[in-house]
Amino acid sequence: MRLSKYYLPTLKEIPAGAEIASHQYMLRAGLIKQTASGIYSWLSLGLRVLRNIEDIIRDEMNKAGAIEVLMPCVQPASLWRESGRYDDYGKEMLCIKDRHESDMLFGPTHEEVATDLIRGTVKSYKDLPLCLYQIQWKFRDEMRPRYGVMRGREFLMKDAYSFNIDYENALNSYNLMYKTYIKIFKRMGLTPIGVRADTGPIGGNLSHEFHILTSTGESTLYYDNKFSELLESEDIESLKSIYAVADDMHNLKTCSVPQEQLSVSKGIEIGHIFYFGDKYSKPMNAKVVSRDGKNVNIHMGSYGIGVSRLVSATIEAFHDDKGIIWPETVAPFRIGLINLQTKISKCVEIANKTCEALKNNGVLYDDTEGSVGVKFARMDLIGLPWQIIVGKKAVSENIVEIKNRATGEIEEMQIEEAINRFSTE
Ligand code: ATP
Ligand code: MG
Repeated sequence: MRLSKYYLPTLKEIPAGAEIASHQYMLRAGLIKQTASGIYSWLSLGLRVLRNIEDIIRDEMNKAGAIEVLMPCVQPASLWRESGRYDDYGKEMLCIKDRHESDMLFGPTHEEVATDLIRGTVKSYKDLPLCLYQIQWKFRDEMRPRYGVMRGREFLMKDAYSFNIDYENALNSYNLMYKTYIKIFKRMGLTPIGVRADTGPIGGNLSHEFHILTSTGESTLYYDNKFSELLESEDIESLKSIYAVADDMHNLKTCSVPQEQLSVSKGIEIGHIFYFGDKYSKPMNAKVVSRDGKNVNIHMGSYGIGVSRLVSATIEAFHDDKGIIWPETVAPFRIGLINLQTKISKCVEIANKTCEALKNNGVLYDDTEGSVGVKFARMDLIGLPWQIIVGKKAVSENIVEIKNRATGEIEEMQIEEAINRFSTE
């Protein structure tokens, strides 16, 4: 992609009202633009990151046997009256009326729709276990939307719903999602921590949040500082035994690690999993016939990941004073190619050729006329993992510079070698 033909509106100054690094950089690097409070347009660069995160999530969810569907954004209030949540959910729900004066709402979550979806189509224990997921926009009229897409009103969520015949099977589904979440977040370059949680308005009796540790999060985490070693474990019971709790859930009396092994840090919640039994299946009458011929309520769980929040959470985890530092797996482009000498035709030719050779390997090519300083600053700001810098030496000695955005290290090499290095994988 040539920058001269791209749409990348970057900002030099820190926009007013953007308090934390990820919010500032998302606006400055042209990832998002605010449309209304807590409501954003995703520009090309931001959308590419969002799609990369979606791809990782899809891949791991599919590997775990979950099946993708797409449920509607707009839901009838009648389903929420059936579950009994319509009056409980509160002001976060955006209520609307259609032309027939029917009560509708913009979905803040999809337990009701998912339960309605399977009732009648899932009839027997033989149809279970089943796990359906979607990646869909939610609306919650948050009291304090802030920090950009970190706490938006409209946000993208991966939400999954598991259906099982009994508690034991439901627990297997829950544990599988726990492990899948760890895999997803690790693939994104993050270090997740599973935190025992309150179940809140979703209800139920078994729940974990997944957080990443940052300096700016909204929750305070108390955790075993050996957790990252324990994360290597494949065993679900060891994973779940890691001591980590948020805010007032921490109690020294029930804390299972010695004082000197306990750390405190801010955290950002990036995912949340619940088992809630028949909380929805019972009032909504979602039953299956069991092996011994009885009609039984389906056991359910739900599993959310804040997909759009993950973009900002990743930036919180990976940035410096110059800008974003994308992990390779989610970067909008892998390589930023910079031509420093747009007036030297031989240099233009070399940069063009390099771009052409790497066009299938994720290149954003800065072919614009701007000053060298502007070009370097912009490339550092948008944080692509690698930079290939073409200057005078390319003409005189056939040499370009390769810069690693994370370490700042610069290596000189022959043009062909650079092309080879990035076209292999
Ligand atoms: P929070 O405590 O942050 O409000 P929640 O418990 O209300 O989160 P869930 O209902 O479990 O969130 O939603 C699943 C995931 O969706 C959360 O783990 C979070 O990553 C994301 N999420 C929730 N609310 C928002 C929001 N307003 N903006 C962006 N992402 C959100
Ligand atoms: Mg919330």
